[in-house]
Amino acid sequence: MDDIHLFLAHAIQLEREAARHYEELTEDMKTAGNTDVADFFRKMAGFSRKHLADAMERGGFRVVPELRPDQLRWPDGISPENAGWEGVDGFLDVLGALELALLAERRGHAFYAGIAAVSNNIKVKRMAAEFAEEEAEHVAELEKLIDRVASA
Ligand code: ZN
Repeated sequence: MDDIHLFLAHAIQLEREAARHYEELTEDMKTAGNTDVADFFRKMAGFSRKHLADAMERGGFRVVPELRPDQLRWPDGISPENAGWEGVDGFLDVLGALELALLAERRGHAFYAGIAAVSNNIKVKRMAAEFAEEEAEHVAELEKLIDRVASA
């Protein structure tokens, strides 16, 4: 992916979906009575909203750009955030919610890292590498939390 606006439009869609999913997971965890994990998800939703606003600004977008189906460049044709959610219906337990979030973060990381590796546009390359690094941090935080919850 070499077009910076196309790249940012993908990042915007990804972060918007991430924020919505984290907000949904926050509610699920409140229902489950797990305030710690609910707080963590709420924090992650906040990060996604921030990244979304940042990508809007970097791209000079005033409204959220919509991507036509023929413009979509997701690996396997499915957005990193939606991959794990396809089979989900109904209530998720704490570990199920964390594993789902981890899957989305890993796919988000792979998406950005893949673009950083192959883009011919140095700006896209740099930005994708920067976003990949942030996703790697999210992956690490989730893995830590999963260890803690699983061993509790
Ligand atoms: Zn993330």
